[in-house]
Amino acid sequence: MSIRIHEDRCIGCGRCTEACPGNLILLQDGPSGRKAKIREVRDCWGCTACMKECPVSAIGYFLGADLGGSGSTMTIHKEGHYYHWHIRKADQQEVTITIDRENANQY
Ligand code: SF4
Ligand code: SF4
Repeated sequence: MSIRIHEDRCIGCGRCTEACPGNLILLQDGPSGRKAKIREVRDCWGCTACMKECPVSAIGYFLGADLGGSGSTMTIHKEGHYYHWHIRKADQQEVTITIDRENANQY
């Protein structure tokens, strides 16, 4: 499992760099401005902390076969106290799972 940062969406806010517990993401200046970049994608253990902090859903998570999602990608959109987990399958079907962050641990 791993993440990919979509540079075209990234606005260089730096929230992901602060969220990553492994300090795996840095900000780099380039021709299209400051963008987030993962240092070494193999070091990412897929905790999703960076994705939850990104305000523009610029970080995608690749779901491997071990998670039943070969070829699928996932992004997270935060809205108030809800997380919307958008999954795009390899056949382009889309699924959205909404989690209420304030009540997620009650069960
Ligand atoms: S998924 Fe977790 S470990 Fe991987 S880059 Fe994001 S915050 Fe760091
Ligand atoms: S949180 Fe999102 S928009 Fe902000 S720097 Fe990271 S990838 Fe870019």
